[in-house]
Amino acid sequence: MCALSDESAIPRIGELLSFAAEKATRYADQVRDRRVGPASAALAALSGFHEPFPEVSCDPAEVLKQLDAIGSPATTGMTGGRYFGFVNGGIVPAALAASWMADAWNQNAALRSMSPVAAELEDIVLQWICDALGLPSDCEGGLVTCATMANFTALVAARHALLVQAGWHVNEDGMFGAPPIEVVVGAEVHASILKALSMAGFGRKRVTMVDADSQGRMRSDRLPRLTKRTIVCIQAGNVNTGAFDPAKEICAAAKEQGAWVHVDGAFGLWAHVSPKFEHLTRGFENADSWATDTHKWPNAGYDCGVVLLRDGDALRASLGMTAAYLEPGARREPMYHTPDASRRARGVELWATLKSLGRAGLCELIARTCTHAQRFASGLRNAGFEVLNEVVINQVLVSFGAPEVTREVIRRVQEEGTCWCGGTVWQGKTAMRISVSSWATTAADVERSLEAIIRVARDCQSVSSCA
Ligand SMILES: *Cc1c(COP(=O)(O)O)cnc(C)c1O
Repeated sequence: MCALSDESAIPRIGELLSFAAEKATRYADQVRDRRVGPASAALAALSGFHEPFPEVSCDPAEVLKQLDAIGSPATTGMTGGRYFGFVNGGIVPAALAASWMADAWNQNAALRSMSPVAAELEDIVLQWICDALGLPSDCEGGLVTCATMANFTALVAARHALLVQAGWHVNEDGMFGAPPIEVVVGAEVHASILKALSMAGFGRKRVTMVDADSQGRMRSDRLPRLTKRTIVCIQAGNVNTGAFDPAKEICAAAKEQGAWVHVDGAFGLWAHVSPKFEHLTRGFENADSWATDTHKWPNAGYDCGVVLLRDGDALRASLGMTAAYLEPGARREPMYHTPDASRRARGVELWATLKSLGRAGLCELIARTCTHAQRFASGLRNAGFEVLNEVVINQVLVSFGAPEVTREVIRRVQEEGTCWCGGTVWQGKTAMRISVSSWATTAADVERSLEAIIRVARDCQSVSSCA
């Protein structure tokens, strides 16, 4: 039996989509009230997926039923209001609905000739993002899966540009024997930059780490000598504290020597849209390249990272591709700006997100999540717990005492299910990290979560088995 050769499959698409819509709608309605982390029974039930590769076809309706029955309960409630893990955003309603439409379109967004609409929306969102983030309006860039890939893409372009100046064409000659390039990062650099650097052939051990202050900001007075063969990676929004590197000073020092500055602004750069937080992002516009995520703070849904460069030619020179069947294209072609070729049309949901929020909605989302973070910090401090960071944006680090107690509180909070927070180690101290990154979080969600965290932490401290 082969389901797809059956002509009755075609009229059934509507039935399947209706089934999916019904289940997805129920999910969206219930996610605000359900426990956030999946229950252990739901995790155990995942074994229901295990079977050898099926020899025979299965009715698509049965496929969906199984996904809903086993898959749905084993999700993490990331789209509800009480998920504070990592820096994971939710998805705004317009993006969720737009992604359903885009799935029906199933566009390959690699080239304009494959999908004119995807290419057009991508052009538009890249412009809008430059505007929203206060970056030069003639920046060029691309949409990738995530900030790690955006960092990688920018670093590959920077590598190309600096080596061309030194008379070396890396795409032709490779990295072996190339003139050395120095890379400078802060001591609290995000691990994704180190991964990107190693993928780009720089090697983690060859990176110069500059001291950071108590909030994780790179100390500009500790910068090493910069040259026109240096790449300096700075960050807008430390993944633990939310702190911003002193971009103005670092960019000025770099510019003087012709060094390249790359900004990892996975979430922090978005603070620019709020007049209240805009001052934190000042100076980052002076850099040469930027990486950010739209699946974090803008809540555009997974997956979507953005790379932007002042010098679009560097991007195309390093990531362009030629083949007999490819035309250079008179207009921007998505795949000449990123490492990948075929890709989903991320620009659709991103456009829907930015169009539906507008600057006012985005600003409100940023400001509201920061207010919630302040409330978490004051609630936890008032309950007698130590908040380890200056809460400048949406990130809160809290310690519940000894490392093993904090780890146990995190474990029990996740198990208890009211909310979900992860752990980290900040400058030697074990902490719970609360990241308020979802549009869906309400003040009531914050109070409910605070109550749960404080209750669990007190229980934990009063029971010696915790340690
Ligand atoms: C989240 C984050 C990243 C990595 O983002 P992905 O989208 O998971 O690749 C990089 N840098 C910073 C500062 C981050 O917060």
